[in-house]
Amino acid sequence: MTDSATDGLFKIIDARREELVELARALIRFPTVNPPGEAYQPCAEFIGRRLGARGFNVEYVRAIGTPGDSERYPRINVIARREGNRPGPCVHFNSHIDVVQTGAGWSMDPFAAVLKDGKVYGRGACDMKGGLAASIIAVEALLDSHDHLPGALEISGTVDEESGGYGGVHYLAERGWFSQPRVDHVIIPEPLNVDRVCIGHRGVWWAEIETHGRMAHGSMPFLGDCAVRHMHAFIDRLERDLYPRLAARTTDMPVVPSGAKHSTMNINSIHGGQAETSGYPAPCVADSCRVVIDRRLLIEESIEGVKGEMRALLEQLVEERAGFTYELRDIFEVPPTMADRNGPVARSTAAAIQRVLGRPAEFICSPGTYDQKHIDRVGRLRDCIAYGPGILDLAHQPDEYVLVEDMVNSAKVMAMAAHSLLHGAA
Ligand SMILES: [Zn+2]
Repeated sequence: MTDSATDGLFKIIDARREELVELARALIRFPTVNPPGEAYQPCAEFIGRRLGARGFNVEYVRAIGTPGDSERYPRINVIARREGNRPGPCVHFNSHIDVVQTGAGWSMDPFAAVLKDGKVYGRGACDMKGGLAASIIAVEALLDSHDHLPGALEISGTVDEESGGYGGVHYLAERGWFSQPRVDHVIIPEPLNVDRVCIGHRGVWWAEIETHGRMAHGSMPFLGDCAVRHMHAFIDRLERDLYPRLAARTTDMPVVPSGAKHSTMNINSIHGGQAETSGYPAPCVADSCRVVIDRRLLIEESIEGVKGEMRALLEQLVEERAGFTYELRDIFEVPPTMADRNGPVARSTAAAIQRVLGRPAEFICSPGTYDQKHIDRVGRLRDCIAYGPGILDLAHQPDEYVLVEDMVNSAKVMAMAAHSLLHGAA
């Protein structure tokens, strides 16, 4: 695109600032809370109606039978596609429409989409309805400024990203919606900050570890065997042995924030002993104790290696500690993923950031996973990044917001990047 054509495109986006704000607010007003998956259908239809009116071919795909899908809470995804007037690559913008629980601590109604001091507030403002709105305005502006575009543009609103993406991108990827030849380049407008290109994410392994005991009367614990004490021995081993090892490992992935450049592990929860009935504790020795762990892996680590390391630690306890038995159950796993920072989508987005913001883009990786994992592993499409306007640290927080200025700038970046990708100019 010539400099004056680029300026013309940016002028169109600047003129639609109000429209962009109102679109983001309209999206936030759908309380698409997951779980359970509230208001997915009206939100998907809102997006479909808007893009349908702009000449997009709109399809709705319900992920029947995926976790949480029901007549009350149907997993409805929307995919809109607009063909250019000559062959060329397809550029796809994928946003998840689900948001997490509102939680406590809000100073306003999380679904009122309050606009104040250049910020739009609400659950999902940052993660990621601000990004979705910016991508829609970007694509519409691109269409309005060009009578002839090659290739195809796609925008999707998908569900369940916050719960693993199985009713959303995973379901669609399994059915070819995120593979060549249909799609060539994907931008996911997740909130990774307006000047950063996210090329991948760390891996994750969730597992449950249970220690066993033997029940007895609480007044005679020597007649039983306490599963909570066995769990304590395990956690003590984590503290003294595993955590220092994880902290010592660092990665070449450009992960942010810097604490996530090391291997990490959270203990999500611990459950042990008998449940209390009406607030009254059971006078029993615990026969079971469970923890759920959330281990995040670096690209230099393998899931098999990570599991083996945990198992070795547990086996050591079996040998050393009388009565120690355990079970290890896998819950969920995703290997780390990283796209080529010199690939077309990363390069053209970075070039657009430089043009719009006047400073070089930073390439980063996300500490946690997002739907890129399904596009990469299921769709086998490698040319995928996350780029969007939200401030990463605000995601999932009370009083979450997105800056209007960032939405406008990111819409310009997305429009310019899409233009160069459609023309194979990256
Ligand atoms: Zn998100």
